[in-house]
Amino acid sequence: MDKALAQKVIDRLSSAQFPALFTHLRPDGDAFGSLLGLAHALQDRGQTPSLHVEGGMIPMYRFLPGNELVQDIPDQLSEKADVFVVLDTSTRERVGKKTATWKQPVDLVIDHHVSNPGFGTINLIVPEIPATAGVLFRLFEMAGWKISPAAATCLYAGLSTDTGSFRYRGTDAQILRIAASLVELGADPSDIAKHCYLSVTPERYQLKKLTVETLSIKDNKKSGFLTILPDFYNKSGAKSEDTEGIIEEVTSIQGLEVASLFEFGSGGSLRVSLRSKGKVDVNAIASTFGGGGHRAAAGIRFAKDGEKNRDLVLTAISQAISALKD
Ligand code: 5GP
Ligand code: MN
Repeated sequence: MDKALAQKVIDRLSSAQFPALFTHLRPDGDAFGSLLGLAHALQDRGQTPSLHVEGGMIPMYRFLPGNELVQDIPDQLSEKADVFVVLDTSTRERVGKKTATWKQPVDLVIDHHVSNPGFGTINLIVPEIPATAGVLFRLFEMAGWKISPAAATCLYAGLSTDTGSFRYRGTDAQILRIAASLVELGADPSDIAKHCYLSVTPERYQLKKLTVETLSIKDNKKSGFLTILPDFYNKSGAKSEDTEGIIEEVTSIQGLEVASLFEFGSGGSLRVSLRSKGKVDVNAIASTFGGGGHRAAAGIRFAKDGEKNRDLVLTAISQAISALKD
């Protein structure tokens, strides 16, 4: 992590009384963990952060301390806000529709996405740390800020979920040391795992069941994809956030290099999730379609022509796989 840049971020955060914190739409564990982890650290310093995410809090992450602070995105950025911070978000658009028209520039971007163009005035983007929560931990450590058990719990949840429970390629000694420090500071790995991985609602399970049945394997058994149709939500009673993790079912298949999930919206829109076991750079594939993410996990959104775009993405995957040397 660039120390001089990190110091700039610390100074900018310290200079504010009412930091406005945002993260990406369809928030995951690292989005909420980072948002709440930073909020606790700021509160412990006597600052008054506001926390915003498109759609507000989601039930699965209500176990995180401070979750009641999370609000939906307001129509306008509060007049009081004296620093506009975006966490764990790879592009300006991914903060959400409402903020797109705001005239205020994003002051601080804190992230770990390699594809992040740096859309803030100050950008701390650290791709070598596999979760934004880990970037925040290093930042707090450098600043000498207190990390309470509540903050540690939130940061640990971000670290755990974005590394796939410390399984993905980015899981190195550094990240395990950060996790160990967070446990020493009060995070309970077993309790956090129970909430993140062992608390599937029947609706979520039903959506997973419907989706897994759509599995199609191709490219000489090197790629596989799942499909979510609009009526799966009615059939299962699940919500959009319940798709998180389903793609891992495909990734787990032996010999497979790339997994994808295509979620069709009712108006012809399409959301694509891509995962790689390491050989194929799915961020490169996503980038050619205007999406992004990381080498091993990326996504794309299409506003229309869902089926046509699905076919184009599948072709790009096939090409990437046929270019691999065995
Ligand atoms: P997921 O498949 O879990 O939604 O996302 C995987 C990764 O790709 C995440 O790191 C996420 O930030 C990124 N990602 C997902 N969708 C998009 C997108 O539409 N645009 C960009 N730039 N990144 C995305
Ligand atoms: Mn993240």
